[in-house]
Amino acid sequence: MSSASEKSARARARAPALWLSAAVITIIAALAVLAWSRLRVLDAPASPTSSGPKTVPGLLAAQGPPAPPGPQGAAPRPQTAPRPQAASTSPATPVSETVQVTVGRNDTLDRIFRRIRLSREDLATLRALPGLEQDLDRLRPGETLTLVRHGTELLGLTRRLSLAETLRIERSSAGFQARVLANPLETHVRTVSGTLDHSLFEAMARAGAHEQTALALGSVFAWDIDFIKDLRPGDSFTVTYQEIFENGRYVADGPILAARFVNQGREYLAVRYVAPDGKAGYYTPNGRSLRKAFLRVPLAFTRVSSPFNLHRFHPILHRIRAHTGVDYAAPMGTPVHAAGDGKVIFAGRKGGYGNAVLIDHGHGIVTVYGHLSRFARGIRNGRQVTQGEVIAFVGMTGLATGPHLHYEYRVNGVFKNPQTVNLPETVPISPALRADFLAKTGPLLASLFPPVGPALVSR
Ligand SMILES: [Zn+2]
Repeated sequence: MSSASEKSARARARAPALWLSAAVITIIAALAVLAWSRLRVLDAPASPTSSGPKTVPGLLAAQGPPAPPGPQGAAPRPQTAPRPQAASTSPATPVSETVQVTVGRNDTLDRIFRRIRLSREDLATLRALPGLEQDLDRLRPGETLTLVRHGTELLGLTRRLSLAETLRIERSSAGFQARVLANPLETHVRTVSGTLDHSLFEAMARAGAHEQTALALGSVFAWDIDFIKDLRPGDSFTVTYQEIFENGRYVADGPILAARFVNQGREYLAVRYVAPDGKAGYYTPNGRSLRKAFLRVPLAFTRVSSPFNLHRFHPILHRIRAHTGVDYAAPMGTPVHAAGDGKVIFAGRKGGYGNAVLIDHGHGIVTVYGHLSRFARGIRNGRQVTQGEVIAFVGMTGLATGPHLHYEYRVNGVFKNPQTVNLPETVPISPALRADFLAKTGPLLASLFPPVGPALVSR
């Protein structure tokens, strides 16, 4: 046996001894903690919040003049002892405990309840409350749930549903009661402007705006300006947007209300309008929607690996076969978005397409997404989807040599080239809403053009 291996053998022999002493130390520490916590609980009834004539020398000493050490050795307890808090753990009253849980990836309420040993029946009761299923499912990784418990029994649950709303469930004698509370938010409207030197982010930051609003500006004008290729030094912007505060503290930027962007000398204007049905969108000042009814490309981070070609030589079948869509190479698992609003008419296995989704958008338009690795949650036949919603993930199921999305755009059953097809505009503001639109958007648009001098005013 070489000396090296002897040494490692000794190290192995020593390891259990180290573990053992570590364990002993841990046990001693645990016993000490246990003894301390028992002391606290046992002392609790003597605290000043409980009734009775008893006084606590330690506490008096802490609050009153310094007490000399008792001659009879009635040693006052350490003055730092948190006596008043001990009363709340008094065994006389039921102990409720508040637990904060941070949601992990793929966490569900089921898992959380199991993990922290809460009653599964309580969870089933919660789920059965009308209208609550959606507010309780689809947890977001990283969000915090506040649970109040007594043993395995659930007494309450609080979940922030969104920036604006919080769900609060409380147990009463009548069972669970749920309320959705409005968070105490305040919004401030702010207008910033600037000129691009190097990048939009830099210019927005110089103007005092957050990155969130720089990104939002990019998506407001995404159908008109390519923010990666088209920007030039000297381009300028004015943005009116909301900032949201809660209890006086900044929380986030709210939506952009109006924006002006001058790109290579051409002016683009956008204003946000919330229709009476609550739907919000961005429009030109005369009420044309900024967004198109379809995304040109239904996924981000991609390149075309095979264009639309009705006379293509197929790489797997080795014969001429029409390529009736566009292939976008993208990493496995890249989210695939619905190109437009519509209804899922197929989600499943479909021959050479592998896992596929078909969406009917009305007006004879159907889009097809093939070779998917899996479907997004809830995507099934009959489901309504909105533009941009994640419907599935890139894969290589069916006839595919590598991970990519096969995307088709069919009009009345005829295959069109998704890269060049004329995408329909969305419907403009209806005549019935025109007056409302002008009244609401006028002041927002005006905020983009502050009066600059007396000359303008006197005119
Ligand atoms: Zn293809």
